[in-house]
Amino acid sequence: MLLHHFDDILGKFGDTAKGAHWPNEKDRRKRFDVMLDVIEQSATGPVVLCDLGCGTGELLAHIRRRELNNIVYVGADRSKMALAYARAKFPDATFVDIDVTARGADLDLIACDYLVANGLFTVKFELSQAQMWSFLETTICRVWPRVRRGVAFNLMSKVVDWERDDLFHVPMDDTAHLLHGLAGRRVRMRADYGLYEYTSYAYKSDHPTLSMPAPAPRAEAPIPVLRPLLPRADRLMPYLRRIDAARVYSNYGALTLEFEQGVADRLALPARGVVSASSGTTALVGTILAVAGKARPERLLALVPAFTFVATAAAVERCGYQPYIADVDPTTWMLDPVRLAQHPLLDRIGVVVPVAPFGRPVPQAQWQEFQRLTGIPVVIDGAASFDTVEEAPDQFLGPIPLIMSFHATKCFATGEGGGVATTDVDLARRVKKALNYGFHSARDSRSPSTNGKMSEFHAAVGLAELDGWGSKKAALRAVVARYRRRLTRVGLADRYVASPDIGASYNLFLCRSLEESAAVQESLRFARIDFRLWYGEGLQHQTYFRDVAHDALGVSEEILPRLLGLPTAPDLADASIARIVAALTEGARGAK
Ligand SMILES: *Cc1c(COP(=O)(O)O)cnc(C)c1O
Repeated sequence: MLLHHFDDILGKFGDTAKGAHWPNEKDRRKRFDVMLDVIEQSATGPVVLCDLGCGTGELLAHIRRRELNNIVYVGADRSKMALAYARAKFPDATFVDIDVTARGADLDLIACDYLVANGLFTVKFELSQAQMWSFLETTICRVWPRVRRGVAFNLMSKVVDWERDDLFHVPMDDTAHLLHGLAGRRVRMRADYGLYEYTSYAYKSDHPTLSMPAPAPRAEAPIPVLRPLLPRADRLMPYLRRIDAARVYSNYGALTLEFEQGVADRLALPARGVVSASSGTTALVGTILAVAGKARPERLLALVPAFTFVATAAAVERCGYQPYIADVDPTTWMLDPVRLAQHPLLDRIGVVVPVAPFGRPVPQAQWQEFQRLTGIPVVIDGAASFDTVEEAPDQFLGPIPLIMSFHATKCFATGEGGGVATTDVDLARRVKKALNYGFHSARDSRSPSTNGKMSEFHAAVGLAELDGWGSKKAALRAVVARYRRRLTRVGLADRYVASPDIGASYNLFLCRSLEESAAVQESLRFARIDFRLWYGEGLQHQTYFRDVAHDALGVSEEILPRLLGLPTAPDLADASIARIVAALTEGARGAK
């Protein structure tokens, strides 16, 4: 009954304060602020706020206006009309269509830290006082178990010159009884904001300190170097429900197998050519154990490039090898298989791990030739190369196993996760065994191993990531295109290294000299733009690997300190890119 009244008014007045049955916009904003007071001062970091009876989502507009970036908003309403307005205005936000009082309503959809109901209980139209009270009580009692920290709602006051028949005026004592029953003494009431109503707050933990969340600074907010974006909770939900039903949480359950199949399809491999892992590093460990085994005294060395992330060296060491660091080719930034086939230490090397630098994919052919000539097994660390390998699988996939990382910072991500891809399904089977205690069909450990399995929960994220992969990749590439356009305009495009040359999650700026690198870094810092030397200044400069034996590393030494990782995110705003390019221009000019 209430619903059709609200829809009538919304139909008549449209998406305005009046349309939401509020007399004016100023009072409405005042109420929004009073509602947001529910968030405790102690709540640092993101909080999930459910706006029950969200209508057209104007509270979210208010949150965005105030730049309260710590609030993760979930709007909930029964009105399809209001939700249609809300979704059109905020396509990136979550709005759920739910009647929380209905039997069987899926209350998990509104699970949150804080719940507010602004104006949900202020108008009763022609409902009786008792009916309206029952609606209030049922609603609050039903949502209370799904709220982690606190709720707030407003009611019309009894302390007024006259009561309106269509509004719900409630004695504070009645509300206090209801809330004390739920929250013990952890209840507050406020009637100090100049309107004919009051707001009640109930908390789950002691000592609620009411205060506004600190607004983010307006001008020149810092730009983080990386803001990963993984599938949102509502995309995960169907997969998580399958886990609930199956009660299988790991050990290659249905979701993990479906995920492996999905990745295999993307890479044009048979399903059994892809093995999932708990991380890129464990995928490396399992694959090295499967193809080269543990280090043997006569072949103790594992050849790795200086031009990589530490994980490559950490993984070979976990398999008992001593890393031996070689230099890379100045154009490809990769180990050179032709040159390495002549390496003087070849007869002491047990495994070679070429790396796909920043996701630039490693061609198979020459490494197959290397493996044939030398008899030394090769494992490609293609951690960040999923998107580039996908473009030309026949060139970059083959009998030599390729490992990938699905870490949150990589463009295709499951949070933590990894995988191995190969056309050799027998090899893939051995990798799976190495990642699962050396078990194959029996519970008998038959080979060196570890536990590197992906859980069903990570596979759920992976499946949702596959669902949205097309648009995520397009978004990352659009960011690259914007960078390129702006850098071209200022004559710096020749220093920009990005997709499709390397993986889509990197935007690299290669400075001309160390001086320019210093000047550009200074200018970025000044503009509060975060950047990263993703591989540091090379593996040999990591404290733990400082004493590791290595070749002359002139190329890596020369390039890495000049190679700056610029900010990246699928939703990096063009305004941010403009700021970044301005800072680069400034820095590069200063160095001349
Ligand atoms: C990210 C990365 C890894 C490690 O992957 P994790 O999933 O974080 O274990 C290994 N090698 C390279 C080159 C990487 O970039």
